[in-house]
Amino acid sequence: MPSNWDRIIGQVRVKGILRSAVNNQRLAHAYLFWGSEGIGKDALAIEFARTLVCRNQSDTACGECPSCKKMDSLQHPNVKMIFPMPGGDGEKNEEGESIENEVLGEVRKQIAEKANNPYFDISIPKAKFIRIKSIRELKRESSMSGAEAGKKIFIIFDADAMNDASTNSLLKVLEEPLDGVHFLLVTSRKDAVKQTIISRCQLLQCSVLSDDEIAGALTEQQQIDPKQAHFISRLANGNYTRAVDLLGNDITKFRTDAVNFLRSVLSPSAMKLFDEQEEYLTGNKRDNAEQLLTMILVWFRDTIIMREGGDYHIVNTDQDAEMRKFVANFGAKNLEGCLAAVERSLGLLRRNVYLPLVMLSLTVNLRRILHAK
Ligand SMILES: [Zn+2]
Repeated sequence: MPSNWDRIIGQVRVKGILRSAVNNQRLAHAYLFWGSEGIGKDALAIEFARTLVCRNQSDTACGECPSCKKMDSLQHPNVKMIFPMPGGDGEKNEEGESIENEVLGEVRKQIAEKANNPYFDISIPKAKFIRIKSIRELKRESSMSGAEAGKKIFIIFDADAMNDASTNSLLKVLEEPLDGVHFLLVTSRKDAVKQTIISRCQLLQCSVLSDDEIAGALTEQQQIDPKQAHFISRLANGNYTRAVDLLGNDITKFRTDAVNFLRSVLSPSAMKLFDEQEEYLTGNKRDNAEQLLTMILVWFRDTIIMREGGDYHIVNTDQDAEMRKFVANFGAKNLEGCLAAVERSLGLLRRNVYLPLVMLSLTVNLRRILHAK
């Protein structure tokens, strides 16, 4: 029978664990949803929260009751969401208004977006940490009787973004579990979550999505032509959020840019490189840079596959001639090293490392590998 859970792509194992926990009435007080980015960890946590507060009290939310309706807009009084917010605690801006009021509009907008698309990543400008103030509020609210009867759920997105003070404060809450109160922590960087927190949670490892799962979702949810959906799913590399981002972009342009970037990286003249890649090396085009790096990543993955003779799996099928030339010239070089260098750069970019530095160090690394004797 179709259910609300079906809206979440893949993750069959985790869905099964959560549903049987409800059926067997063996709910943990705290869960940690972990795994790489863009695979639906937030979506799972939100759907689990919806299930737990649904008036029908079964292993799947009914989607019809007043509680489910409130969850549709993520405005349920018993489901609180915590995520990184900008500023220190009680920090004021120049006008003397609290920063919180200033970003309130942005927060509302992003929550509405998240309600509409649980794969949307809430990211408030200048937010670095989950503030101790947010955790104190959570602590207070978790101990009070709820605005509505029933369970109270706290979802903590980006749980790795807690500093020591927030971690310690949350730890106290987790150490004293209350009936009917559940904490759903979500992270793409489990290694950055303190072990003391992890040990208090039931761990739910979420898997990377397969190309077919992503392509299927793009076709069904975004009405993308199956052939195009398949191509994008290969570029997205298991990350559905990235796949949807890619839809809005001119992929052909980024592909051409990727080839040109590699050409200038390989050119003997450093000046030529700077002239041609100024946009990426000095500009502030972080989003573009991420797409460009993804294309370069795919390029190296494809050339490695081509070198091994597995042409069938190649993504960039329309750049066949260009790639054959590259493999003929550079097939003997350490292409896996190039792939790793691009992956590292993508990681740095996502951690907000200064863009020109990321691009410059990638250029140096690729030149070193590809020009090696
Ligand atoms: Zn319901």
